[in-house]
Amino acid sequence: MQCPYCQHTNSRVLESRSSEGGQSIRRRRECLCCKHRFTTYERIEFVPVTVIKHDGKKESFDHSKLLRGMVRACEKTGISHQRLEAIVDDIEAQLQQRPRREVTSQEIGQLVLEYLREENEVAYIRFASVYGRFQGIKDFMATLRQLQQKDVPNTENSWETTIQEFSEQETSSNVMTHS
Ligand SMILES: [Zn+2]
Repeated sequence: MQCPYCQHTNSRVLESRSSEGGQSIRRRRECLCCKHRFTTYERIEFVPVTVIKHDGKKESFDHSKLLRGMVRACEKTGISHQRLEAIVDDIEAQLQQRPRREVTSQEIGQLVLEYLREENEVAYIRFASVYGRFQGIKDFMATLRQLQQKDVPNTENSWETTIQEFSEQETSSNVMTHS
């Protein structure tokens, strides 16, 4: 990339980050010759990402659909809407850069879970349950225990509250099968 100050063609990248909602990458560069700094935008050639669903059906990756699911899972967990949008942008950018632009819905779920695990464990558990990762209450409780044992960041909700909320929400569904 040619330096706008001295036209030298070599620069080093100081910082790269996704911008314009994951549609481009903004790079902060420093000219190796005159040391001036400048910014470049690298646009990703847009190719739609195909999502392969559980039943084998295919659909295009839907940014707002994923965001809606995450907003629902993260209600009252203290994660801002802005942060969730940034996560969805990141995920979309990651998918766009894959050599094969096909992804299973399960893989997307896993990506989301990786992000949420870093952010907030209550949101993580909710999303995991929404995605049907838990086959039954036993798995759910085992995961709760696992997370409790870890040194997790503070959240407003205690574990008791979370379990309580889940009991209330899920009693009528088949997620909670009381034996
Ligand atoms: Zn220069």
